[in-house]
Amino acid sequence: MNTVNDKAIVKDYFNATGFDRWQRIYGDGEVNRVQQDIRIGHQQTVDKVISWLEADGNLSGLSICDAGCGVGSLSIPLAKNSAIVFASDISHKMVEEAQVRAKESLGNTENLSFMVKDLEGLGGSYHTVICLDVLIHYPQDKAAEMITHLASLAESRLILSFAPKTLLLTALKKIGEFFPGPSKTTRAYQHREADIVTILENNGFSIQRQEMTSTRFYYSRLLEAIRN
Ligand code: SAM
Repeated sequence: MNTVNDKAIVKDYFNATGFDRWQRIYGDGEVNRVQQDIRIGHQQTVDKVISWLEADGNLSGLSICDAGCGVGSLSIPLAKNSAIVFASDISHKMVEEAQVRAKESLGNTENLSFMVKDLEGLGGSYHTVICLDVLIHYPQDKAAEMITHLASLAESRLILSFAPKTLLLTALKKIGEFFPGPSKTTRAYQHREADIVTILENNGFSIQRQEMTSTRFYYSRLLEAIRN
């Protein structure tokens, strides 16, 4: 499958069945047990990023690009902490939902802007670029291109999360739970950590902090890379 097709499939998925599924998982209404488990795991990833940024003590006024922002699970709390957040997603449905949630939770959204855009189309320059749980939609051979583009937008720091490849077949099976039913055609790609680190290093970044979140159905390796 080529990237154009992959991307079109992902976009259609997150504007249809994927939107329904993920906006529920990334919400607080009733969900099934698998979805509840993924909700908890994902929230842990978001909380880890926020705790890193809060620990640095310079979040207020910091420019942050949240690439593939989904329904704003990270962008909204970052904006609440007075960061200047530029959030974007390939899916207009996800962005519309994010805008509703931002309005509900922040009221004033002056320091948070949303765009419908695939991340390869993003331009500009931000202190920090963050891309959580999006690499799962990129085959290994497209990861370098994607990360290189995000790195070009990051003045100081790039924070990425991805499903690590080391978990072998059990994890592959579990990650299949991300896309049940007809949407199973949307593939979930795992990535080797060593490959991701090499790509970051080739772009002039070094790993500073790392975390791993694992629940029963959710696996996410989180890396903070700093420009050398
Ligand atoms: N980063 C968000 C979070 O952690 O809450 C959302 C994660 S969700 C699993 C993946 C998101 O990536 C979806 O909202 C999807 O539309 C978006 N996405 C996938 N491919 C993308 C691309 N090429 N450019 C921008 N967004 C993309």
